[in-house]
Amino acid sequence: MTRVQSDARTDVLVIGGGIIGLAVAWRAAQRGLRTAVVDPSPGGGAGQVAAGMLAPVTELQYGEEPLLRLGMASNERYADFAAELTEASGGQDTGYRWCGTIAVALDSDDREELRELHAFHRRLGLDSTWLTGREARRLEPMLAPGVRGALHVADDHQVDGRRMLRALLLACERAGVLIHRAEAVELLVEDGRATGARLGTGETVAADRIVLAAGPHSHRLAGLPEGVLPAIRPVKGQILRLRIPDAYRPFLSRNVRAVVRGQHLYLVPRENGELVIGATTEEQGYDTTVTAGGVYELLRDAHELVPGITELPLVETSAGLRPGSPDNAPLLGPTALPGLVAATGHYRNGVLLTPVTADLVSEYLATGELPDLAQPFTPTRFSPDRSTTKASA
Ligand SMILES: Cc1cc2nc3c(=O)[nH]c(=O)nc-3n(C[C@H](O)[C@H](O)[C@H](O)COP(=O)(O)OP(=O)(O)OC[C@H]3O[C@@H](n4cnc5c(N)ncnc54)[C@H](O)[C@@H]3O)c2cc1C
Repeated sequence: MTRVQSDARTDVLVIGGGIIGLAVAWRAAQRGLRTAVVDPSPGGGAGQVAAGMLAPVTELQYGEEPLLRLGMASNERYADFAAELTEASGGQDTGYRWCGTIAVALDSDDREELRELHAFHRRLGLDSTWLTGREARRLEPMLAPGVRGALHVADDHQVDGRRMLRALLLACERAGVLIHRAEAVELLVEDGRATGARLGTGETVAADRIVLAAGPHSHRLAGLPEGVLPAIRPVKGQILRLRIPDAYRPFLSRNVRAVVRGQHLYLVPRENGELVIGATTEEQGYDTTVTAGGVYELLRDAHELVPGITELPLVETSAGLRPGSPDNAPLLGPTALPGLVAATGHYRNGVLLTPVTADLVSEYLATGELPDLAQPFTPTRFSPDRSTTKASA
């Protein structure tokens, strides 16, 4: 056991300065908590490659209604969150765009599936409108002529993950969050309570509460007692960035998505002329290599949906790792280890879920009460013996 020594008292130490960790740290500092973040490259992580779709309705899958509620709650907060962040960061734009999303069917099987999704939306009282292929092309003339039908969801929008990260880092610094540019190599536990972290520099940082927000690395932290956190799988996504020259604008006016050959595909047109095309879904460990096959499949499928993309300059290919929990829903709130709080496992929705995660986790940090909205997502749902598990602040 390492006795932790630190001069300056820290209320909250956030391990991982990706989009989730930074947002939690910013909100915690706003609540008056002395907050620090440890990350070798703060402002990095999967948010740097993410498409930034804010799409709780078009991403909805059967059986994920609690996640839908969380996603909708976050989506509703986004406009205010983005505006507040811009202000707090000294004017950084987040690329938040109120644009809506269209989910497109390319053949009759897709059309049947989309019809079922539409019926599901209606049963849940969600706002989505059925369009014929012709109506869809009237909205988005660059869609392939063979489009068989579409769902228009006016409330699924977009934000730019890279700009959000830049703004969050600045907002944290301006709010007094101490940023340690180092890796946390060990969680320190004293008398059955998390008390701090040892950094790669050899330094230790003590804190009353530790927030684990290290994405797909969260469960790998040395010192973490067994059974406190399930494995967070790294789910690789390859993604492309194209540029829409002025002469081609508006190329697309809203997010476009479809299922092509069984794979989810989306095109996200940003206001600055960037067109993001994503993404592959691959489970093969901590590998972020961009492959010829991945790029080929994305371009082939996107070309089927919007043939005109072949005219556009391809400016970037990249890959990142989505942090997937065993049930693909996030882990929010206290763990079975007193003093340790989780904010991880956001899988394919981490950008969408940033505002709500920051609000719920900072509320818990400030008051010791976890709001009802977060209750279905407590990490103790994965504890081996839930009956004897007592989550603690
Ligand atoms: C291709 C792709 C497309 C996506 N598209 C979307 C989308 O359209 N909409 C959406 O909502 N979401 C999307 N996502 C998902 C989203 O990007 C993630 O859910 C989100 O980035 C998770 O954020 P995080 O901060 O929890 O983890 P990460 O982004 O993984 O950040 C973790 C941070 O922890 C740090 N870290 C790790 N280990 C340590 C350690 N030991 N000590 C200190 N720091 C450590 C890392 O350096 C990193 O900065 C996409 C993801 C991918 C890969």
